[in-house]
Amino acid sequence: MLCFRFRRCKTISLTVVIGLVSLQTPQTLLSQQAKITDSQSTGMFSGTIREKNLAALHDPYLSGAMPTYYSPGQKKRAQFLQNLIAGEIGFYSDAFGMHFAPITLAVLDPQQWSKVVIFSYGFPTISLPPYIFTMPSDWSKSNAVPFPAKEDVDAATLKRARAEGHSWKELQFEGGDGIGTHEIGHAIIRQLGIDTQTRWFLEFLASYIGYAYLQARQPREVLGNEVFWTVGYAKTPHPHSDLEYMETNHRDLVTKYPVNYAWYQFALDQRVLAVYRQEGLGFISKVKQSFPGGGPKLNTAQVLEKLESIDSGWKAWAAALGEGHSGYEQEK
Ligand SMILES: [Zn+2]
Repeated sequence: MLCFRFRRCKTISLTVVIGLVSLQTPQTLLSQQAKITDSQSTGMFSGTIREKNLAALHDPYLSGAMPTYYSPGQKKRAQFLQNLIAGEIGFYSDAFGMHFAPITLAVLDPQQWSKVVIFSYGFPTISLPPYIFTMPSDWSKSNAVPFPAKEDVDAATLKRARAEGHSWKELQFEGGDGIGTHEIGHAIIRQLGIDTQTRWFLEFLASYIGYAYLQARQPREVLGNEVFWTVGYAKTPHPHSDLEYMETNHRDLVTKYPVNYAWYQFALDQRVLAVYRQEGLGFISKVKQSFPGGGPKLNTAQVLEKLESIDSGWKAWAAALGEGHSGYEQEK
């Protein structure tokens, strides 16, 4: 959910606020975030500072393609996340025959988290190079993510989850780890040279990349992410719902209507599910071809027009979204 564009530093401080806003305590988060200024943005995304902070902890680490530091006692959790996140980089390296910049992962408890990054606990971010990606060791201690409540999940889904070996607590928090795959999606988009042209399509594509990887290599994680998105979509208030509002009133959404912003993310995720069913992994290659970096600037209507030629239904979806729904309600 976080997104920042390295070439446009002003965007960074803004998008810090947009990421994972708490549905439970948006005011608390906003008051913390209000202290963040543009001049601080480089510091909070500085890989050099983050690396120094992390080194001062003298934490144990797991070696590998994605070195993973972890708070004492969190080795098992670190191994799981290293496998999940490094696996995504490896998967797309193979899929596109290219090498991606190395990323170091840090899996931290609340106490150590605050010594490495200034964000609320559980608010995943990747720094500028050298890339340091912070993830929480324990989602239950985070109020930065609107996780589903058990009563909001239908009986058939809970039954399926149990049959697939998920405890409720696992299922409840799997969507949080899925945000990690979304964040890696942002890093992959940049390195694939894709210009999504619009903010909403950038967020869509980051989720798509994360989800396509889960489908291909981490199928056990799929259900929890779908539950996270579907419940979040159904339960999140959203006075604003059209794409153009998200595009042109971003600061307002972030500062005044953070919960509404979260709904946009969940609505985009609903579209991810639908497009993936039709297009699968191949969609990413088509986007790479159709949205090269350095192309002429496109607006929302033009992006939709291009997408319509890849996979029909985008314009109808955008129109339905403008009326306050994504068109996929019946599938819940
Ligand atoms: Zn994002």
